[in-house]
Amino acid sequence: MSRRPASARPTATSRDVRAGCFTCHDGEARWFGPQAQGTAARHHDATGHVTWTDVALSVRYGHPKSDPRQLDIEAAITARTP
Ligand SMILES: [Zn+2]
Repeated sequence: MSRRPASARPTATSRDVRAGCFTCHDGEARWFGPQAQGTAARHHDATGHVTWTDVALSVRYGHPKSDPRQLDIEAAITARTP
């Protein structure tokens, strides 16, 4: 096992943000993405409804290994391309 600085570690981070209003949307998510939380807050301010926001944070370290089957497919496509 080799050690290297944390700054060299390939890291991918993504967030899934969804929100909705319990009154208007029956608890279903209706707002998605970076604006969802603000929309839920403003909707509460404007209506007094109880709104919600859920944020799921995904972090991946390292690169996934390439799938050799995919390389076979790409090679076959390249071979057929004139
Ligand atoms: Zn509402």
